[in-house]
Amino acid sequence: MKILLFDIDGTLLLTGGAGLRAMNRAFVHLYGIEEKFSGKNLAGRTDTSIFRDAAEECGFPYDADSLEEFKEEYFTVLPEELNQPARDKRLMPGVQELLTALTARDGVYLGLLTGNWQRSSYIKLAAFGLDHVFPFGAFSDDSEIRPDLLPYAIRRFQLKYDRKPEPRDIFIIGDTPSDIQCAKPHGAVSVAVAAAHYKEKDLRPFQPDHILADFTDLDAALRILG
Ligand SMILES: [Mg+2]
Repeated sequence: MKILLFDIDGTLLLTGGAGLRAMNRAFVHLYGIEEKFSGKNLAGRTDTSIFRDAAEECGFPYDADSLEEFKEEYFTVLPEELNQPARDKRLMPGVQELLTALTARDGVYLGLLTGNWQRSSYIKLAAFGLDHVFPFGAFSDDSEIRPDLLPYAIRRFQLKYDRKPEPRDIFIIGDTPSDIQCAKPHGAVSVAVAAAHYKEKDLRPFQPDHILADFTDLDAALRILG
């Protein structure tokens, strides 16, 4: 049995800045402050922690109500931004072929472990026709602390499939140091993919169990994940 928990941004796809633009639009709509999230390194962060920092920096209350209000606004504008043409809006190289191969394998279960909220995860995936590929996962709604997300994904896996995995059956696939660090405390296998914001030399010091330049070498990817 293998449980593959994929990160979204920079691992499966790039939104061409749609996520950032939608966050900026939601923030300006609610608080009147432009470009709040521009120029920050948000890769690997959870969306809840990104919003919390922004609200606190500006002296606005951060609580359940303000978070829900921001999420609703973000979910409203995100599909519009995803419809905008953008140079960097695409699936990451090899993703389509990899997912097709993996979904055909017995004993391989595909899920998500992402800093996106659940609704925006599936909005982003739907823009690329991938929203039906990942029937369970853990999201920023569960915790704003990324390493705390894994148990949520596993609980949902167990509820859905009634199987109990060992830690080394669980693979966390992502493009940032945060993805690697989120596997370690749980004894899960980390698979770093250096196809987006971080290069192999940037990811190697965090000691992932495996490192791939991208998914274009399907055989190499399947030797680890298949
Ligand atoms: Mg990522």
